[in-house]
Amino acid sequence: MTLAYVALGSNLGDPQQQLLAAMDALASLADTRLLRRSRLYRTPPWGVLEQPPFINAAVELDTGLSPHALLDALLIIEQRAGRVRGERNGPRVLDLDLLHVDGVQLDDARLTLPHPRMAERAFVLLPLHDIAPTLRLPDQHTVAERLGMLDLAGCERLP
Ligand code: ADP
Ligand code: MG
Repeated sequence: MTLAYVALGSNLGDPQQQLLAAMDALASLADTRLLRRSRLYRTPPWGVLEQPPFINAAVELDTGLSPHALLDALLIIEQRAGRVRGERNGPRVLDLDLLHVDGVQLDDARLTLPHPRMAERAFVLLPLHDIAPTLRLPDQHTVAERLGMLDLAGCERLP
């Protein structure tokens, strides 16, 4: 079994409900346990600014699935939630990104691990900090250290 971290995001429909349902779907994957779930955060849109704010979260899984099998499972959960792929960084009912799998570094046509853009994104690191503050990023900083370098303007934890 291997620890894996998944980022969840949504800004269409009922984002909070989408994220809670997605966490339940992750918890019921074959050969997988959900060990920790972050709080939910409201964060400003990134890239495409003219869209609703996002709700973001992160979870820690202990899984026997391979990284590619886990990615397939994430894409199926997104599709079941009604994800339609539109413009890059545009609005989405559900986005599930595989951030980090312990001991795994890879870069192929379908999957890059660790996720290449996680270290610059408050909307990823803020929830990840709830569940894995000492996780080391590719730049050797911990999640807590990197988070201290980011601008958290407009990000708020939901009650
Ligand atoms: P984004 O999350 O960057 O907004 P998408 O959710 O549309 O974009 O994902 C596009 C593709 O990124 C996926 O189909 C997947 O094959 C690929 N991908 C590469 N590395 C990862 C990763 N670590 N986690 C999730 N998807 C990844
Ligand atoms: Mg994605």
